[in-house]
Amino acid sequence: MGSVVIHYSAAAASDRGRKRSSNEDAFGSSVEHGVHLVCDGMGGAAAGEVASALAVDAMMSTLNARAADAPMPQTAEQAVAAANEVIFHKAQRNSQLSGMGTTMVTLITDGDRAWILNVGDSRAYRMRGGILEQITLDHSLVEEQVRSGRMDHAEALRSPLRNVITRALGTQPVVSADVFPLEIEAGDLFLLCSDGLTRELSDDSLESSLRLDLPLGELCSQLIEAANKAGGHDNITCLLVRANE
Ligand code: CA
Repeated sequence: MGSVVIHYSAAAASDRGRKRSSNEDAFGSSVEHGVHLVCDGMGGAAAGEVASALAVDAMMSTLNARAADAPMPQTAEQAVAAANEVIFHKAQRNSQLSGMGTTMVTLITDGDRAWILNVGDSRAYRMRGGILEQITLDHSLVEEQVRSGRMDHAEALRSPLRNVITRALGTQPVVSADVFPLEIEAGDLFLLCSDGLTRELSDDSLESSLRLDLPLGELCSQLIEAANKAGGHDNITCLLVRANE
């Protein structure tokens, strides 16, 4: 323990998909500061784009400026609260942006420790030893029904309510993120993504793609291409972070 120094590399890509006229997803990624996030905005007109961009900017600026000994995950939770306030207040002041919000999934790395924070139905996965595991739990109506046993996974995918999320950044004065503390092992590969990826590609398909020993940028491109081939019904964003010895 402690003898292995972990180095990180990252790549990300975002695509409008084949059906939408704009891309309301946004991402931010800094290996230097160990901050990576994906946001999927929602709201009328261009409001979704505004919300996701505000969230990324707020999270990146707060977390990139954190002190080296900033307590975690409290510092990250404060960043989420600040991002929430920025979006909420902007929506209150501008009727065209009223009701806008965004999902947010963030990975923060610090040596061999990491934290994932989640609000909404974007996801974080970890690939370890060739096995893909979903770390986050979707804050969506159908996934909550699946977890409580009232709906099965196939029904959830078909449900007309599958787009309803139960938590978002910016739609309420206060929001709470799920926090997942993690111990990092060399070789871990993290995928952060919007639902435009996970609606089109099964976990098995994601796992097969991520087993390929390709540069992260190529893996991102392949995932987006595969999601578009499967229909590209929504904006698609994927962000990969690899822990190397
Ligand atoms: Ca989406």
